[in-house]
Amino acid sequence: MCNNYDNKNFRILIVDDVSKNIQVVASILKDDGYQMTFAQNGKVALDKIHSHNFDLILLDVMMPGMDGFEVCRRLKQEPSTKDIPVVFLTAKTDTESLVRGFEAGGTDYVTKPFNGVELLARVRTRLELSRSRESLKVAYRELKKTNEELLKSQRKLELAAKTDTLTKLSNRRDIIEKIENERIRFERSGKPFSLVLCDIDNFKVFNDKHGHDCGDFVLVSVAEMMRGKVRKQDGVARWGGEEFLLLLPETDLEGGRILAESLREKISCNYYKYDNHNLRITMTFGVSSFSECVMNIEQCIKMADEALYEGKKRGKNCVVLSIAEQPSILKSVSEENGNERP
Ligand code: GH3
Ligand code: MG
Ligand code: MG
Repeated sequence: MCNNYDNKNFRILIVDDVSKNIQVVASILKDDGYQMTFAQNGKVALDKIHSHNFDLILLDVMMPGMDGFEVCRRLKQEPSTKDIPVVFLTAKTDTESLVRGFEAGGTDYVTKPFNGVELLARVRTRLELSRSRESLKVAYRELKKTNEELLKSQRKLELAAKTDTLTKLSNRRDIIEKIENERIRFERSGKPFSLVLCDIDNFKVFNDKHGHDCGDFVLVSVAEMMRGKVRKQDGVARWGGEEFLLLLPETDLEGGRILAESLREKISCNYYKYDNHNLRITMTFGVSSFSECVMNIEQCIKMADEALYEGKKRGKNCVVLSIAEQPSILKSVSEENGNERP
């Protein structure tokens, strides 16, 4: 049971048209230390309820003008007052009157003439319930907040686990998951998809000459350019240091070649402005396509990797296709265009 200090925070409205009854109720409750307010008719009671926050209303049923049932009904219709518990003070204990009281929204009743012990017990129980309900509400709100924060950090973690920190592209793990999904789709639809593995040429020399920060800047620029140039459904990942992997759904080898060629050209023509320098880079591309002849995604990635390696051997800044039917045949589709190398 709560102490009197706690009870000071409870506000009780006592409504009865007979002031003697109000005095009796107040004297019974006084020792518990509640804040008590009084009203002698329904209208005054409603006005007070709207201008104060009450924890409990002790409401006489029989009053001239608006009776207690009507006051209660009005309270229950309003969202701001519907949750305030109402205990009827009634001389009538016939079943019909009691049912009417509960139908009007009352939570309990106390019969006249008042039994002090009973009245105190009912008031205390009602207020304890309100207090518990309030604590539950607070606990629920806190739990909900904590839960939302947890969900937010979980989403952040999930995103971080899929993202490359420097370029904000997909990382290796994320793109492999996406390729695996595409493979499953291929098994259902038979639509091929392509992979493009590409690598910045002579990047070690570039870093040595211009510094690691400049290298990072170029990596981010290339990542942004690639992301902006591919379709929304395409996947772009940082595969390793200065190596990127593109996943092109519903795209055959020729489609992959066209995209790779346009990226190659754009990269080799672009100037990367860093510390008043206009820098240029080139990239080499290996393209493979997933079809019935390819056993699994590892093989498809390996084919793109071999094509890329072949491109490096052939002089870099070019696109090489891996022909699945004859894996040993690698077709070069563009030659080094003579751009200045870093
Ligand atoms: P190749 O044309 O054959 O690809 O030669 P390369 O110099 O580009 O390749 P190599 O594998 O010899 O060197 C890769 C370089 O990429 C070395 C490494 O310092 C650089 N690199 C890898 N990751 C990062 C990075 O996150 N930031 C920077 N700035 N450089 C990186
Ligand atoms: Mg390289
Ligand atoms: Mg490399």
